[in-house]
Amino acid sequence: MWQKIQTAIEAIYPPRCLGCGDLVTSDFGLCGTCWRDTPFIEGTVCESCGVPLIGATDGHRIECDDCMIHPRPWKDGRAALLYTGRARRIILALKHGDRPELARPAGLWMARAAKPILRDRMIIAPVPLHWTRLARRRYNQSALLAQSVGHATGLPVCPDLLVRSVATPMLEGMNAAQREALLTGAIKAHPRRKHRLIARNVLLVDDVMTSGATFAACARACLDAGANQVFVLALARVAHDT
Ligand SMILES: [Zn+2]
Ligand SMILES: [Zn+2]
Repeated sequence: MWQKIQTAIEAIYPPRCLGCGDLVTSDFGLCGTCWRDTPFIEGTVCESCGVPLIGATDGHRIECDDCMIHPRPWKDGRAALLYTGRARRIILALKHGDRPELARPAGLWMARAAKPILRDRMIIAPVPLHWTRLARRRYNQSALLAQSVGHATGLPVCPDLLVRSVATPMLEGMNAAQREALLTGAIKAHPRRKHRLIARNVLLVDDVMTSGATFAACARACLDAGANQVFVLALARVAHDT
């Protein structure tokens, strides 16, 4: 029955490439050409933040300079894309362009990148958006991505595990220390959801990781509420030298 409906939907709305609009056959949302032109992160990465690193792994944990200088409160992190070129356009369309359907293939890309950091009994939670911003934007793109990652991995999702109690101003243009100062205390575990994260591993999901200050505030909120370990997953990672 469901299969029939699905087939009927696809006949009316055949999947189109997110890059060029050509018809595509897979759920991954991009045709071969656009796939090659999209900056997917592959190969050796920093275990903490997922930024690509030069060289091969020697079996030891490797981290980028940033993560070594400022140890992260979370265990490991990954990102599907580098925040440049086409990846940037996809994220801006998801965020501001009212294209929530982009979350479905994006969740598949993220689940693929997250494979090495997935754990049993992990719970997925999005980075929260303050309700005043939610009202302006109509949907929280991180929550959509979290649902999509949950769908792709089979892990449970708790959309309101974390709440943002203070409306924080836009963080763009601030340095890491300024961002952290603003966010500390602004993000908390939801009092009625807290029980879901006690002694469990949490996978935090966001659209873009820049300095990691938002993930850090969320990770601290989870750990304060009794989570076992926290892992982070972004659709795209901003690399400093790009
Ligand atoms: Zn294409
Ligand atoms: Zn790193």
